Amino acid sequence: MSVYAIPLWETPAIPVVDGDPFPVHRIFCVGRNYAAHAREMGHDPDREPPFFFAKPANAVVANRTTVPYPDETSDMHPEIEMVVALASGGYRISENEALDRIYGYCVGLDFTRRDMQSGFKGMGRPWDMAKGFDRSAPMSEIQRVKDVGHVSEGAVTLTVNGEMRQSGDVNQLIWNVPETISYLSSLITLCPGDLIMTGTPSGVSAVVSGDHLFGQVDGLADLDIRIG
Ligand code: MN
Repeated sequence: MSVYAIPLWETPAIPVVDGDPFPVHRIFCVGRNYAAHAREMGHDPDREPPFFFAKPANAVVANRTTVPYPDETSDMHPEIEMVVALASGGYRISENEALDRIYGYCVGLDFTRRDMQSGFKGMGRPWDMAKGFDRSAPMSEIQRVKDVGHVSEGAVTLTVNGEMRQSGDVNQLIWNVPETISYLSSLITLCPGDLIMTGTPSGVSAVVSGDHLFGQVDGLADLDIRIG
């Protein structure tokens, strides 16, 4: 018999290449971590540093699936991102210790209801419902650090129906991975199972029902998603 008042829910998990599924604890996202994307969104990366927001763990979507076009938007943007999966956490992790916390890496999409987000920005309201909605975080299979090492450079691309939509390189991150982990862990205690979506390069724009999204980060498992 359960010791809880209601039945425990299933732990959201992401398949791991040559490993057991990775249980997702939380999903943190970095905003405006590529200078060209910050500029296309109307901001000056030299004056405004990146920042964090979050999605719920159960927003993850399996690779090679069809995701229904989300409700309450007519301007849904997929943002291609390299994603870091943490094996262990901590508070005030130094940049030198940060890489030791990583279990692996995958390719993710930060689905965004851009019209809703723009409204929230104008009213000074939180972004949660524009960023953290159901099925807003498709993820490719995680590849383990012990198999592929760490990712500090490599192309980040998204094609839509075979045409290049977004293109950048992990080496263009304003806050690199150790800096991101160190800074985020100065704000909250990081935990095993946490994911960090590291931000998107420039070129974001809308997708529609029927579109085929193909995301790649050099050396990681490809992400292949269709919009229903
Ligand atoms: Mn993003």
